[in-house]
Amino acid sequence: MQDIPAVMIIFGGSGDLAHRKLYPALFNLYEQGLLHAHFAVIATARRPWSHAFLQEQVADAIHEVNPEVDEEHLTAFASHFYYQSHDVTKVDHYVTLKNLAAKLDQKYHAQGNHVFYMAMAPRFFGTIATHINDQRLTSTGFNRIVVEKPFGRSLETAEELNRQITACFEESQIFRIDHYLGKEMIQNILPLRFANPLMRQAWNHEQIANIQVTLAERLGVEARGGYYETAGALRDMVQNHIFQIVTLLAMPEPTDPSANAVHQAKQTLLASLQLPTPEQVSQHFIRGQYAASDRTFAYRNEPNVAPDSTTETYVAGQIKFTAGPLAEVPIYFRTGKALKEKMSRVDVVFKPVKSFYGEATANYLTIEFDPKNCLTLSLNGKQIKGPGLRQEQFTYALSDYETSIVPDGYERLLHDVFVNNSVNFTHWAELKRYWEFIDAIESAWQAENATGEPAIAQYPPYHYGPHSSRKIFATTDMKWIYG
Ligand code: NAD
Repeated sequence: MQDIPAVMIIFGGSGDLAHRKLYPALFNLYEQGLLHAHFAVIATARRPWSHAFLQEQVADAIHEVNPEVDEEHLTAFASHFYYQSHDVTKVDHYVTLKNLAAKLDQKYHAQGNHVFYMAMAPRFFGTIATHINDQRLTSTGFNRIVVEKPFGRSLETAEELNRQITACFEESQIFRIDHYLGKEMIQNILPLRFANPLMRQAWNHEQIANIQVTLAERLGVEARGGYYETAGALRDMVQNHIFQIVTLLAMPEPTDPSANAVHQAKQTLLASLQLPTPEQVSQHFIRGQYAASDRTFAYRNEPNVAPDSTTETYVAGQIKFTAGPLAEVPIYFRTGKALKEKMSRVDVVFKPVKSFYGEATANYLTIEFDPKNCLTLSLNGKQIKGPGLRQEQFTYALSDYETSIVPDGYERLLHDVFVNNSVNFTHWAELKRYWEFIDAIESAWQAENATGEPAIAQYPPYHYGPHSSRKIFATTDMKWIYG
């Protein structure tokens, strides 16, 4: 692998994301030689840490995920880390940062290449982008910026943030990260659809009855009630992760696997995204909040949550496109907190056929990507004794060994940033469509909230969410495949 020269500046270097994800990912890229002699990382945050203390923190982060690590390699890796105490709102701090980056660029022969990573609370993204521009932090080599989620909280705020970032960076230099796009089974969706004749032939509106996407979490909001009150399940999960998955499931085949071709195919699909009317929102979307259990609070009683909060911890709904391979096929989704178990999966439900061999059930294909990586195909087969059909399931799961070598999503995506491959990042044109859809639902909900009687189901925690979620289906005989 190449030794890519670069100075990386992480805004939020003392935070959870940097500690749990970015430092271990960078270490693995270092071990693979992608980054080696010519890189330096500047971690910034408000605390007054020293370089040595940051290096200890980086070493701790690696030990937590890899206790058997080669200590010599780790010490050498950590020596590339520098700390800069920095308040993102103070202009003069950017000048200090710029000088340190220039010094490290010289020391490591980084060829003027800069990667900026916004690993902070999203309310700071715009301020950071503005100061990177004002203080000319970009350098003479490549300049790339990685932006964490959420990218705005409505189309309007996303547009404003995009304006601030594009003042300094071109679209091709902006990497809007969604770590779901780094997951093994998500990256497997396009090869599964397009490298198998069986799937290619069947993946269309003639054969597929509906698709169901479930992103369920066992945990409630924990200590993040304050943040969650400003987001809700729709903005937190649907606007990014669910839409990315749905786009991969419904897009036409790209002309080749390049980032340009894949984004082109996604945008062709998204041009036909149906935006729901307020009537459709009330018919096809369900929102809910988790109630209390013996040992846990109801959402409305969590710390920093308003007792009359209308923020949803659960949402189920449908997405439809008017064109593409799945034109008019309902794609149902649901996501929520305090549900039965952590489970991320897609169920593709095929149309059933009439058979004189017996009562044939609908075939379905399940793609599970969290906590397991597996595919299950259900088919009809004959009963061993007597007449009729039975449903048989074929499961392909990654072995323990295969699972152990799957890189973490952040490692994959950081790798892609360094090699300049944006195939698994969100293009502005896509993000814009996602927000248009989310805004349509939010505005219908706000109108409903204003009546004083919003329909927000209180669901018992640690089950499958509100019973009313079934009302989103087109017909009463339909049900969720999972749960
Ligand atoms: P965090 O609260 O743990 O860390 C925030 C960082 O920002 C800290 O280093 C803090 O010191 C710094 N900071 C706060 N105010 C500052 C200021 N005024 N000036 C300078 N530094 C300041 O947050 P996190 O969990 O690491 O999340 C960071 C971003 O990553 C968020 O956008 C989040 O949505 C996203 N994200 C996090 C995770 C995760 O697993 N933690 C996963 C996906 C996405």
